[in-house]
This record gives sequence, structure tokens and C-alpha cells, in this order.
Amino acid sequence: MSVSPSQLKDEPLHQGLRERLVKELSGKGITDRNVLNAIGKVKRHFFFNTTFIKFAYEDKAFPIEAGQTISQPFTVAMQTQLLQIKPGDKVLEIGTGSGYQTCILLETGAKVFTIERQKELYDKTKVLLPKVGYSPKMFYGDGYVGLEGFAPFDKIIVTAGAPFIPEPLKQQLKVGGRMVIPVGEGSTQEMFLIEKISDTEFRQTEHGAFKFVPMLTQKNK
Ligand code: SAH
Repeated sequence: MSVSPSQLKDEPLHQGLRERLVKELSGKGITDRNVLNAIGKVKRHFFFNTTFIKFAYEDKAFPIEAGQTISQPFTVAMQTQLLQIKPGDKVLEIGTGSGYQTCILLETGAKVFTIERQKELYDKTKVLLPKVGYSPKMFYGDGYVGLEGFAPFDKIIVTAGAPFIPEPLKQQLKVGGRMVIPVGEGSTQEMFLIEKISDTEFRQTEHGAFKFVPMLTQKNK
């Protein structure tokens, strides 16, 4: 799908809707100012087809290409808040999708490396993001193996429901680093925060139930 220039206009109406979304997320327990500021800055309607633009600032997930979804703003904010990003942090994202979460990470001051396994989405988002002013490092590949050549990372975020925590991702995390990953194969996943204490020790805490599309392996396309 190509992006029409009219879709890439930010009007006072959109700004107002973003401010409303920020208030809504703050009311739902998002307290990190850095995260709320990022939600207030990233123009979520740029990630929607013009036909559906009115849904862009609702706190809901929405279907995108290739049977995938743009995550719900609350989920994006919650995952980002759990990461506790500091400016300059090197962040690995698994599941670029629309690129919305990627832009939120960039707005919090992170340097972002992002992987997508669906070629159609990778191609589309690679064209869109520079057009709207964002330049993450983007990779077409399999998130289960991470990006060994660019490791270690300060933070890792997985935006698809994982059946288990992939070992290479734990290895590619810095000591003192944080990874957020929704785990579970049923209709909902539990949000796990993994803190790397030493090369071999990890602390694992749970942060509520969320709903994600599955993180797929090479065999189940
Ligand atoms: N962060 C995205 C969420 C997209 S949904 C957004 O804000 O729009 C999850 C994405 O993970 C989908 O695009 C899906 O294709 C991708 N995905 C699923 N399994 C993957 C894997 N093994 N490696 C990389 N990406 C994967």
C-alpha cells in the first residue's frame, strides 16, 4: 500500500486527539513522563490507511497488512515504561510491524534496531519511517535469533506473543539490561520483565495479561 501525501498531514484535530490519548493512558496507570511525551509526539494516524484514520487515536489495536496488528497504545506505553529507557540506550525490537512502537522508542531517546519477519511489512515500513522523520536500523529476519552482530543491547522488546523466552535474546542483553516479552500460546499472554543480573542470573517478574499476534518460527509461516 502506498502512502498518500494527504495522509501525512498533522492537523490541530490530530494534535487534540493525541492529547486526549495521553490523558487516557495516564488515567490507566502510565506514569513515565518520557513515555507519555513520546505518545504525544508520534502521529499514529500516519500508520493508518486513510479509510480508517478515525480509529488512529483510540486506545485499541488495529489490523494492518499480512494479518498483523498495530499494538494498542496502552500496550505500547506499558512495554516502553517497563523498559525504563535512558537517552542513548541501544534497544532491540522484535516485530517492527507498522513501526509505531519503533517510533515511540526513538522519541524516548533510544537507538533502535528492529526486526520483522514478514517481507510485505518490512518493505512498507522501511519506506514509511524515513518519510515521517524516523531512522531506526531495520532488518528483515527472524527475531528468535536476535541480532548477534549488534549485541549487546541495553533493552530488548518483543511485540509478538512468544511461546517461550528465546535463549539468544537473553544472551544478547547487557548485564543490568531489561527485556519485556509477552509469553504464552493461548488467547492472551503474560507480560514478563526479565532483568539481567549477571551473565547467568536473571530476575523475572510478571506485569499482567495482554493480547498479541503470535511470534512465529520459520516452520509455521
Ligand atoms: N510493534 C508493532 C506490533 C506489530 S504485531 C506495531 O506497533 O505495529 C507483531 C509483529 O511481529 C508482526 O508484524 C509480525 O509479523 C512480527 N513477528 C512475528 N514473529 C516474528 C519473528 N519471529 N521475528 C520477527 N518478527 C516477528
